[in-house]
Amino acid sequence: MNLNRKLHEAFGYCWHEKHAEYRGEIACTCWATFKSEEEFIQHCKSSNPNYKAEPWLVIREMKKKGLRKRFLSSIGTTTNLGALAKMSSLIAIDTTGKLAQLALDWLQKEG
Ligand SMILES: [Zn+2]
Repeated sequence: MNLNRKLHEAFGYCWHEKHAEYRGEIACTCWATFKSEEEFIQHCKSSNPNYKAEPWLVIREMKKKGLRKRFLSSIGTTTNLGALAKMSSLIAIDTTGKLAQLALDWLQKEG
């Protein structure tokens, strides 16, 4: 299972993918149904976040859950330049999923 999906589910959301196909209609795991494959793929693309490519989404979700401060303090404080540089890299520069992995590990431990 990929990291984006694991983290999304750890946040308590449904990962959108094909649940069933019946009489030409595609049912998603969220129970929405689609008449065309194209429509369904578009739905999954817009509903499944890419936390690896867009790490700020991790922070946004942590904020929604009221966990942002606790999570950020688990990574390190922003009271010095080195820590600030590390934080900005995790949030805005890295696209390999470092922050998403930290978030998943943290949620599984603390959340
Ligand atoms: Zn769906």
